[in-house]
Amino acid sequence: MWPLLVRNLIATWVICGFWDWFLYLSPMKEVLRPFKMNPKYPPLRQLQHDALHTTLATLCGSGVEILLCRLWATGMLPMQETLAEAPLWTLLWAATIVHWRIPHFYLMHRGMHPWRTTRVPDFGKFLYRHVHAQHHKSYLPTAFSGTNMHPVEATLYYLMPSLFMAYLCRLHPAVALGCIFDCAVGAWLGHDGFRWPGAGDFFHQLHHEHFDCNYGAQHIPIDKWLGTYCGSKADLKKVWGTSSSVGREGNMECTQARCRAVRDAFAEELHLALKSAGLSRETDLAAVPLRVEVRGTAGRALLDRSIAVGAKAECDVQVFGDEEVLPLQFLVCSLPCGHIIADISGRTALAWRSNPSAELAAGSVWMIPPEERVVLQVGHSCVALGPPANSLKARKKARTFGEAFREDFPAKKCQKSSSASTSCGSLYDSKPDIYSLRSDSPISCI
Ligand SMILES: [Zn+2]
Ligand SMILES: [Zn+2]
Repeated sequence: MWPLLVRNLIATWVICGFWDWFLYLSPMKEVLRPFKMNPKYPPLRQLQHDALHTTLATLCGSGVEILLCRLWATGMLPMQETLAEAPLWTLLWAATIVHWRIPHFYLMHRGMHPWRTTRVPDFGKFLYRHVHAQHHKSYLPTAFSGTNMHPVEATLYYLMPSLFMAYLCRLHPAVALGCIFDCAVGAWLGHDGFRWPGAGDFFHQLHHEHFDCNYGAQHIPIDKWLGTYCGSKADLKKVWGTSSSVGREGNMECTQARCRAVRDAFAEELHLALKSAGLSRETDLAAVPLRVEVRGTAGRALLDRSIAVGAKAECDVQVFGDEEVLPLQFLVCSLPCGHIIADISGRTALAWRSNPSAELAAGSVWMIPPEERVVLQVGHSCVALGPPANSLKARKKARTFGEAFREDFPAKKCQKSSSASTSCGSLYDSKPDIYSLRSDSPISCI
């Protein structure tokens, strides 16, 4: 057992560790920059987090390998005793591992995203929140993000195809173990984030950016067959909503340009006002990373002069699937002195803040201290800005979610979540009318 564990841990760190170092930390980093699919780079903290969880996932995979060996050794699992027993059969299954393991992955992965069912309970929403959200913390994936999985997901990921096919097809152990190896290496290289010399898996990169599409892999077109395939951000509307007007390219460009113009104008005016108030040093006006969570999961840090939040695909933070969210809901400018939030919609409400010193009135401009966590209600969904709920600072100040909810949001439009974070309400409860363009939208072209 120990040699097997040590072998797998060494392999994980040699493959993932070298590849992430080479692409993200080595002197080649600058040379390879033009080949990065998403020009933004993940913070070092994400690499450390993913490395730790990938190490844990490897322990789960090793557990699966040990279990299979035990089942074969005790005769509980049928197997080809030697490679010579059925060479063509073995060759067939060995050569097609990458194809037959993907349907298992699709099934498991799709099951861990919201099912969007109304007749049966949406267990996928529960699984996403408590299991799969772990994987989506890697908004800008690297090799270590490949198996940055909750232990439940990691175990199922390695176990499902290897055990099922070993049992069904009486595989030689080498083929089933090859499947475990392919699960690991395929995930690591598939998440490296580079067109070259990486795997260039734009398909799965889109899944990490937009969540509810591309659950499988491109070489087995299950997503195409089941209607969950997206080739671009704009395709999301075809999957989860319809709008005749938004799909046209010209309209997309127009809304993108207007969204950018609104964002930049806000940042420009704000900088001018701050300069006239005496904050003229470059460090006073430098953009600082702003951590954003939508519905309590998949928090990510954004570093831009200003950030747009709304239902439209053109927004930097998109709250899609909730018909109550306006195309452009609010703008945020993050500065060293704090986050300045402009509620463009006039409908953004304060749901909770870690320092409940002052009320924030809808339709105004608010300034939040840099270390404070605020939860804003947009439609039936919530967007949190600031440090994570479980960070030491936030926890020290925070009331329990129940207390905060009763005191700050008595109307109870939102649903309670199990974590003291943001998740009030859900996109999945409302009908997905993701891209409906409203004529009163500040970024509407109509
Ligand atoms: Zn992934
Ligand atoms: Zn996913």
